[in-house]
Amino acid sequence: MTKTQEQTIEREPMNRDFYKLFINGEQVESDNGERTKIYNPATGKVIAEVAKASKKDAEKAIQAARNAFDHGKWKLTPPGRRARVLNKIAEIMGSRFKELVELEILNTGKSLAAAKGQIAQAIEDFEFYAGAIVGHGGTVNNVPGQFHNYTEKEPVGVCAQIIPWNYPLMMAAWKIAPAIAAGCSVVLKPASLTPLTAIVLGEICHEAGVPEGVVNVIPGSGSEIGNYLVEHELVNKVAFTGSTPIGKDIMGKASATLKRVTLELGGKSPNLVFEDADIDAAVDGSLYGIYNNTGQSCDARSRLYIHEDVYDEFIEKFIAKTEKIQIGDPFDKGTHMGAIIDQTQLDTIKGYVQFAIDEGAEILTGGKVLKPEGFEDGFWYAPTVIGNVTQEMKVVQEEIFGPVVVVSKFKNEKEAIALANDSEYGLASSIWSTNGARATRVANQIQAGIVMINCPFSAFPGTPFGGYKQSGFGRELSKETLDLYSETKSIMSYFGSRPINPFGI
Ligand code: NAP
Ligand code: MG
Repeated sequence: MTKTQEQTIEREPMNRDFYKLFINGEQVESDNGERTKIYNPATGKVIAEVAKASKKDAEKAIQAARNAFDHGKWKLTPPGRRARVLNKIAEIMGSRFKELVELEILNTGKSLAAAKGQIAQAIEDFEFYAGAIVGHGGTVNNVPGQFHNYTEKEPVGVCAQIIPWNYPLMMAAWKIAPAIAAGCSVVLKPASLTPLTAIVLGEICHEAGVPEGVVNVIPGSGSEIGNYLVEHELVNKVAFTGSTPIGKDIMGKASATLKRVTLELGGKSPNLVFEDADIDAAVDGSLYGIYNNTGQSCDARSRLYIHEDVYDEFIEKFIAKTEKIQIGDPFDKGTHMGAIIDQTQLDTIKGYVQFAIDEGAEILTGGKVLKPEGFEDGFWYAPTVIGNVTQEMKVVQEEIFGPVVVVSKFKNEKEAIALANDSEYGLASSIWSTNGARATRVANQIQAGIVMINCPFSAFPGTPFGGYKQSGFGRELSKETLDLYSETKSIMSYFGSRPINPFGI
């Protein structure tokens, strides 16, 4: 699009006082006029109101998605053209990058650096699926004689997508991009606390040329409309990211209509530092591994296991750098760590730290609520390191979802692997070692969907993201995600010279 064309588009500013539902290509009020107040967790102040979808609104969105799927042109649009629209979405997001980043920060209290990285990744995600969908197709298969067999990948249908509050736009992109690339229709329910950027993404999809009804965004209560989506017979698939207990509940409820289900759930990801690691690199990576996004990440490296020979050196450096983490104004370039999402989450974190103390663990640094200057009414917690822990403790086994890491020692590789795998979860993991053979050997034995060697990240468009064990199943961010939004149809034909008559009658 040229500059002049772009200037002629009449857009609402992203930062508004009131956000509507996005159903069937239109911004609409909720059926009963209900609204939810949206807060900035950094200040505790209301920043906007959002229409709160009722079951009637959810029904309207499902009908719109169903109608678009059954009678619309999107699923029949050739993949190359769908790709063009996905690239257009990425382009518009890029041209409104600053606005998206600001809105995300206002609604989450996350740091500028974190928000920028996440929005950039959301854009890349659309670009990735624009490329991937073009190569996504069926196979021709070996069958005997006069038969001919091929498979086709068909979109699975109407997808309910339910996402959490920790990465509002990135999660929306992870869900919407592969679904619409595959030709599906979507009803996305953002988290009640953080619906703003997801609503705007719905509008951007429409502006980019996604037809009416293909993308619908309906903020509302999880227990009410989330449930309604999961149980509805016109919905073919549920893709959920959130906590493990809700994931289990969803899987149970989806069984009544045998919906396809993918679940990205909680984690308690291990971080193993071997005696042959580059200790400074491991310290820096491990800091990011736990404190990125204020520890509110499903893939947070929240269990830190260190070889006994390097434990003292590592811990001394790790604590010194933890105490240097800048906390405060999320919009300040120098801020490393932003706010906690709300009072409930802050109370959860405080509760876990108290459990640790009661169970005899030692707070090595942090362990307290903060009140940064100018942000006294927001929700803040100090980066916290807990030592003297044993495997049975709650803080070692359960997901805290805050800037809290537990640290302990191991003696050898075998013990490190056993400790890493001693968890009901299996999402991500990191290994720090300069010995490639060892790192590979350990990687092969870790029970997790993601293993990173000398690297604290987890998510790159193109590489599969998802869990083992109670971290869920299904993979996002990758080519195989397209299969999870597709059905495989096998088509067989026979052109033999004699008719098929097995009964011989
Ligand atoms: P949550 O309570 O499970 O909520 C996630 C979403 O589900 C929200 O949109 C929520 O709506 C909705 N929901 C709640 N109850 C529901 C129900 N009965 N039926 C259908 N939907 C329902 O999780 P959260 O508190 O937002 O986020 C934190 C959790 O998410 C952590 O455990 C974290 O590990 C996990 N997480 C996992 C990943 C991953 O990729 N594996 C990524 C991010 C987060 P409301 O907002 O209205 O409650
Ligand atoms: Mg919740």
